[in-house]
Amino acid sequence: MEFLWEMAQTWGEHFRRDLFRYLIAATAVSLLVSWVFRQWMDSRRIQRRRASWKDIRREIHFSMLTLGVFATIGIITSILGDWGLLRIYRQWSDYPLWWNLISLPVLIVLHDTYFYWTHRAMHHPALFKHFHRVHHLSRTPTPWAAYSFSVGEASLMGIFSPLILALIPLHLTVWLIFIFVMIFRNAMLHAGCEFHPRSWVDGPLDIMTTTTHHDLHHQRFHGNYGFYFTWWDRWMGTEFKNYKQAFCQAVDGNFSDPHTRKRSIASNLNCG
Ligand SMILES: [Zn+2]
Ligand SMILES: [Zn+2]
Repeated sequence: MEFLWEMAQTWGEHFRRDLFRYLIAATAVSLLVSWVFRQWMDSRRIQRRRASWKDIRREIHFSMLTLGVFATIGIITSILGDWGLLRIYRQWSDYPLWWNLISLPVLIVLHDTYFYWTHRAMHHPALFKHFHRVHHLSRTPTPWAAYSFSVGEASLMGIFSPLILALIPLHLTVWLIFIFVMIFRNAMLHAGCEFHPRSWVDGPLDIMTTTTHHDLHHQRFHGNYGFYFTWWDRWMGTEFKNYKQAFCQAVDGNFSDPHTRKRSIASNLNCG
């Protein structure tokens, strides 16, 4: 009985922590879009269609379900930790300085790779309905769609944590920074307005995705599977051909939806 009570407490703790991060990220991005930079963001909307309250309610509902799954996986992670199977450490001196410096970028690259391939696999017709259909109910996503997953997708996404923590040594601070980077990036990619500066796709930062990159995925499904970076999509030939054009359209105040664009589009592939 005591064991079950302890498990319930651990579950509740994980749920509260993940809920806090989700609320902070989705609220912050929503406020930036609809209040702080409202006019600027409104001129950079990617789709003409606006998400309805019903869409937002559904996204929050499924995100709560996802937090429940994450909390359950959190119990498994805690048990693995108690058994000494996780390689998380608390003293910076436990590992060399070079590893402390590069572990966050390494973690982000590994997560990006995990995300690209599991995401692409979930688009296989045999898996889509059971794993990924819920997330794609958001044709015009909002920041609240960040965790709008079915149980299958939430499990696949959540299992990354115990897996990576068992495989590579990570300082607790690095892990917490990663969690915040992940949820904020996630909320930004679903913002519906283009945050990134015009020059983004013309320079070295083009290796990183933009809101338009992921928004196009929600509009057209079969392409732009990446999360942080564009390189997997480019290596695998899965990036939408009109990505840069759609990005420029959003930055210039033209919608990327081909049926509802405001003005004629530029035919060149960069914003210049
Ligand atoms: Zn999405
Ligand atoms: Zn997808």
